[in-house]
Amino acid sequence: MPSPHIPAHWRHFMLNAIEADQPYKPIREGLFQIDPPRLLGSQCPACRTKVYPAKGFCPQCDGDGAERPHVVPLSPEGVVFAYTVIHQAPAGRKTPYVLAYVDLDDEVRVLAQIHAPHTDIRIGQRVALALCAAGTEDGKPVIGYAFVLVDQSRGA
Ligand SMILES: [Zn+2]
Repeated sequence: MPSPHIPAHWRHFMLNAIEADQPYKPIREGLFQIDPPRLLGSQCPACRTKVYPAKGFCPQCDGDGAERPHVVPLSPEGVVFAYTVIHQAPAGRKTPYVLAYVDLDDEVRVLAQIHAPHTDIRIGQRVALALCAAGTEDGKPVIGYAFVLVDQSRGA
């Protein structure tokens, strides 16, 4: 199977320099799509509950014997529900970094890193999904995800 490629037009989502149109590997299959960049959750057809990562059952209603949940792209923005600053990490990982629960606009809570100085982060702050380089494997960049602060001044 050919490797998926990174479309050139969303290179600005990348936090680190990655050559456009080169093959890449996702950090784990099925966690996200890249065009447009969205986390992939699942939604229950019976009660509409969404969860991340995608599951084959509904934790809310157990499906009521109806269809299994569908995979759905989740909202690319949300707000910081809670966060912590990590000062000790496995060797090779830069500290400090911020790990946060982000409540996406479609009411799914996601645990992820926020790429920003921890002194700039507040509870309730708006953040947006960003795909980013997470090392290399077999000579291909590995793509992961994080959140970045939404510039409140850009107007909406
Ligand atoms: Zn359900």
